[in-house]
Amino acid sequence: MSSLWSAGPRRVLVVGIDGVRLDLLPELHTPHLDSVAAAGFLAPVEVDDVTPTMSGPCWATIATGVGVAKHGVLGNHLGGNRLDVFPDFTTRLAAVHRRRTFAVGGWEPLFLARSGGPLFAAPSRLSYIAPLEDTPEAWEVCDERVTAEAVHVLTGEDQPQASFVYLGAVDETAHFLGCGEEYRRSIETADARLGRLLTAVEGRPDEDWTVIVVTDHGHVDQGGHGGRSELERTAWIAAQGPGIIPGAPLGSLHHTDVAAHVYAALEIVPDPHWTLDGRPFTQAGTPVVVS
Ligand SMILES: [Zn+2]
Repeated sequence: MSSLWSAGPRRVLVVGIDGVRLDLLPELHTPHLDSVAAAGFLAPVEVDDVTPTMSGPCWATIATGVGVAKHGVLGNHLGGNRLDVFPDFTTRLAAVHRRRTFAVGGWEPLFLARSGGPLFAAPSRLSYIAPLEDTPEAWEVCDERVTAEAVHVLTGEDQPQASFVYLGAVDETAHFLGCGEEYRRSIETADARLGRLLTAVEGRPDEDWTVIVVTDHGHVDQGGHGGRSELERTAWIAAQGPGIIPGAPLGSLHHTDVAAHVYAALEIVPDPHWTLDGRPFTQAGTPVVVS
């Protein structure tokens, strides 16, 4: 699906899994994340000192490619933001580049005009699927429906060129139950959902896919985040695709690099006026190989 030498049209899938601790991954059964890492990399990201280790600001940084000083999202209420100036990649690609984009998930501020949102303002296609209540069980049902919807759209006639899929049950489980057995099982369930998304894009073999999997922050053992502990501020990015050479050295990665890499993967040169703060993964200290 991601041969360096494929000449097919470029496509990007970003899968955001909320609140997945990096330190626990080695002991969990996550074959699909492992496959992305083996075909590319899985590397830590440290949430920087000016960014609260909260979902709102971290997802805003991931989706826009600029830090909090520019996008202005400082908490889980997104009010006061400057997302009109620094839009998410699905919105910019649709508006400026006429690309077909898609975003789906169940956390209101990312997708709805609630709590100061939406972060994903105007992708070509948007799906919001509400959890029926604020519990780990309801969020698992939500993520299941989100995955089904994403598979439906990725394999349907829309043929989106850049997509963002949000899975929230892992984070919800940590908040309710801490980072114990239920949390670990929820990460493995999220990985199974990632597998279904990978299968969906593998069903479009004539295209040259970049897949990015990213989490926003970690959790303390008892569940919770927002502070500066290493467990909370350690996030990660995994990616595979054209130009990403397995085992090649990476410089230190930042959340801002995700959107920068989305543009690069689609062979779009960012306008300097966008003032992106991130760099494509392939420019972080390793030679760029463009097939
Ligand atoms: Zn979060």
